[in-house]
Order: sequence, then structure tokens, then C-alpha cells
Amino acid sequence: MAGTGLLNSTLEANNASPRDNDAGLALDEAWRLGCTGRSKEAFALAAAVFHGSSDIDTQPNRARAALDMAWYCFQLGNTETGLNYAREAETRWREIGERAQEANALAIRAWLLQEIGRFEDAIDTAASALNLADSSGDARSRSLAINVIGVIFWLSHQPEQAIDYCSRAVALAREAGDRAFECWWLINLGGAWAEAAYAAVETGDNPAASHLVNKALEYTAMSHSLAMELQDIWAQRLCLGNMAEYSNIAHDYDAAEQYLIRYQSVIGDDSDRGKGHFLLELTRSLISLGRYDEALAPIQEALELGRTSSQAETTMLANKHLSDAYEGLGDYKAALAAYKKYHTIQLQFSGEKIQQQARIAEIRYETDKLRALLDIEVKRSQDIASSYQELQRRAEMLAEAANLDPLTGLFNRRRLETLLSEFDENSQPFAIAMVDIDHFKTINDTCSHMIGDKVLRQVSIVMGERARQTDTIVRFGGEEFAILMHGTDMPTADALCERLRSLIAAWPWAQIAKGLGVTVSIGIATHYEAADARTALQIADQRLFAAKRLGRNRVVASGE
Ligand code: GH3
Ligand code: MG
Ligand code: MG
Repeated sequence: MAGTGLLNSTLEANNASPRDNDAGLALDEAWRLGCTGRSKEAFALAAAVFHGSSDIDTQPNRARAALDMAWYCFQLGNTETGLNYAREAETRWREIGERAQEANALAIRAWLLQEIGRFEDAIDTAASALNLADSSGDARSRSLAINVIGVIFWLSHQPEQAIDYCSRAVALAREAGDRAFECWWLINLGGAWAEAAYAAVETGDNPAASHLVNKALEYTAMSHSLAMELQDIWAQRLCLGNMAEYSNIAHDYDAAEQYLIRYQSVIGDDSDRGKGHFLLELTRSLISLGRYDEALAPIQEALELGRTSSQAETTMLANKHLSDAYEGLGDYKAALAAYKKYHTIQLQFSGEKIQQQARIAEIRYETDKLRALLDIEVKRSQDIASSYQELQRRAEMLAEAANLDPLTGLFNRRRLETLLSEFDENSQPFAIAMVDIDHFKTINDTCSHMIGDKVLRQVSIVMGERARQTDTIVRFGGEEFAILMHGTDMPTADALCERLRSLIAAWPWAQIAKGLGVTVSIGIATHYEAADARTALQIADQRLFAAKRLGRNRVVASGE
């Protein structure tokens, strides 16, 4: 589970005093809260660990608290505070020497920098995060860093690259087995596709836009069901808000409204931005549906929110919607006033956007560098995956080869040794039979060694066909075989061996060589008769010898 916060759990257990464990448990609980929409409580709990008296907190717990607090700030939209804790975490993890965690702190800081529009710094920081994550070899950290780079591309309107990076981040999260990360990065992958859809809408390519928006919905729905499974309320709300937006792009306003109703029914802490997004999407679908009256309340709420949280974009869009609503209601004077406000903010904004575009052009060089980094990363993980598989395959082949007899394909004596030890260790009941082909030397001498080999294979086949699933047949050596019968008593073992003996004697050996006949002698013992498995084997061997003396082609299950 993701109960270990943004970092892996390897550090916490070692040499932890009970009080360290308390801190660790508090951080686990905080993380759980953060994943279930209660980011404020999560932050408070982590803060208690971070600011707690130094005797209860080892360095790793404080570093971890700082890192997770940065994340909760991100969830809550408290960017400035988040930046401070991300820095704090970064320094502390660097001192501890945990590169993967330092990379995580850098990645979160990059994300927060992106949030406040500091693109260059965000890119720089994200590049450092990826470098560091790469050198730590930690798949989770790599997935976080790559996700953040994807988000930076997404929010700087470069959807193609955003899709590339976000897909890779999702794949890495899956590889690392981190479902929370997988869920969150899928949201961004959906956003990247939606960004591509917006670009297509602008160029008037409607078929492309509808395909792209479906992709956005598809990935976001994927994330949403994962969020439901994980009971991650924060992610559920993000998904529902985004799916409302994407439905609006697709002019499916009823669907958008449905998503927004569901959004409202999920209770959890909201960031100002999340709330703003909800209000604006709600207004957008209400206006598109011609329900202007109903739109006025959420617009007022959005305007209020824009003012109190100084979110210019929210204020701008709320004014645009207000203008549309008044126009729909026939109040053209009010519509014009709202439109003027919208226009003023928009001019301001587009000036900033132009500047932003210029900055993005400047950081092209950096993004090329990032792409090169990513390519190396992708290749590396493919190499690792394939070489690992190859190694595993070879190891399996070797292990198998080491335990098999090449002539008959039966297990060999080496395997028998292992099985005998297992019987002793687990004190399981068993019976064991020693089987020897009668006058085999004569077969070799009168026919040929090749015929002798064929006989060995055929005897193996007959025994193999008749033996039960739980019996193990081993080529003991030469023309001798052992049969291990798990959980079998003497009468059953005797009956089975008698059946094998008669089947071998009755087999049409003339098929192999004219006039050929083959029989076997068998001696059996059970675990009741011996102190250990090897002694039982010796007794079975003695009984085999007795069978030979008694005239061969027979089974001996008792006596000397
Ligand atoms: P008994 O009935 O008393 O068991 O007589 P036997 O001839 O079967 O016993 P012995 O142990 O004298 O002979 C076994 C022969 O099996 C000797 C050896 O050359 C032969 N042999 C061992 N391994 C193989 C093999 O892999 N292929 C062939 N063709 N012969 C083998
Ligand atoms: Mg022999
Ligand atoms: Mg023999």
C-alpha cells in the first residue's frame, strides 16, 4: 500500500526506537488521510511530527514529514508553504544521503514552481529531479520526476510531449507497483490529451478534437475507477471535475452536469483552484444548456473565490460567463459591463502569456536536454527488463537441466537428494520404490546400446503414464529408477508397483527389437520402517536385491 508517503519504507524499520515508530505510524496515518481527501488533517499530523521534540524524531522521519507536507500543500493549493517544505525535505534528504527521496523533493518543488508560473525554475528543478532519480535507480522516483515534466509540458501547451512523458510516468508507476502514483499520473495523462483536444478545437479540426477528448475521458475514467478502489477522494474529485470539463469540450453538457453532481457528493478538502474549476465548469455547462438563472449563483461564488484567493484566471473566466449569462437573460447592459471586466483581465493575461511563450522558447534547449535524458531512461529500463528476463530464463533452464536426466527426461539423482531432504525436514509420510531392469546387460550385448537406450526411454514412459500426479520418478543411474510416492502406505505402493511391473512385462517390446522382452524387479519400503528417508531408500534397495534373487520380474515389499 502507499502508506509510506512519498518515499519508500526501507529506512523506517531499521534501528527504530518505539518513539520513532510512533512518528512513522503518525506519518503513515497522515498519508492515508491525504489519500482519502483529508489533506488538511494529513498536513496537521505530519506537521506535528516535523515540529515535534527532537528526541522522538530521527532525521528520516523529519525529512519524510517535510516531503509529505509539501505534497499535502500541493493538494490544498498552498503553493508558497509547499515550496518551503519541499526545500526543507530536499536539504534533509541530501544530508541523509537518500538520493531517491531527494529526487522526490525536487520533483514536488518543480511541480509547485510550475503552479506559480515559474517555468524556467520548474524545468531546471525537474531536470535535476530526473537526473537524481535516474542515478538512484528508483522506479517510483523516476515516475514522479517524469510525471512532473509531463505536467510542465501540458501546462505550457505542448501536448505531444506531455502525452509522451505522462504515459511513461504511468508505465513506470505500474512497474513500481505504486497504485496511488498510477492513479494520479493517469489524471495528468488525461489532461495532456485534453490539451491536445483544445489545440485541435482552436484549429477547427473537430474530428481530431473529438477523438482526443475521448482519449482524455478514457484515461481520466481509468484514474477515477482506480481512485474509487483506493478510496482516494482527492483524486476522485479531480477526476470528476476534469471529466466535466472534457465533456464540456465535447459539447456533452448533460454528462458534464452529471459529473459535477457526483463531484459535489464526494466530501473532502478542496483547494481554491479545485473549487474554482468546479464552479467554472458548472457555469459553463449551465450556460450551454440555456439555464442562465441557475448559472448566476455559481458565477457569484467564483467571483468571490477569485477575489479572496487572488486567482486572476478564475475572476477572468467568471466575468466571461457572467457576461454570457446576462446576455442569455436579455440584460445587455450588465452583459457589457461584465464583458469589459473580462476583457481587461484578459489583456493583462495575454501579455503575460506572450511573455510566457517567449520563456518557453528559451527553455527549448532545456527540454531537448530533458528529452535526451528520457530516451536514455526508457532504453535503460527496457534493457534492464529484457536482461532480467533473459537471466531468469537462463537460470530456470540451468536449474531444470541440473535436475533432469537427458536420456529419459526424468528427474535425476540430484533432484532425488533434494526430495529426500525435504521428506526429512517436513516429516511427510511416503513410500519409496527401487526399480531395476532385469538382465539389461544382456539386452545391450545381444541387441545394441541404442536399443538399450530405447528400452530405458520406453520403461520411463510406461512408468510415467501410470504413475500418479503425486509420484515422482527418478532415474537413479544406469538401468535403475526410484519412485517416490508421497503420502502412500505400503498396500497402495505395493499395488501400484505390481501394476507397473506387469505393464512393463506386457509391453510389446518386439516393436523395438525382434524377440525382445523386458521385465523389471522392484523393492519397496515406507517411512514407517526407517529413521530417515535415506535409510528407507537402502531398505528398498535391499528388497530389490531380494527380488532379483527370488527370480526377477517381481515386487518385494517386506522382509530382508
Ligand atoms: P540384473 O538383472 O541383475 O539387474 O542384471 P543387469 O544386466 O541388468 O545388471 P548390470 O548392473 O550387470 O548391468 C547394467 C548395465 O546397464 C551395465 C551398463 O552397461 C548398462 N547401462 C548403464 N547405463 C546405460 C545407458 O544409459 N544406456 C545403455 N544402453 N546401457 C546402460
Ligand atoms: Mg542394475
Ligand atoms: Mg539390472
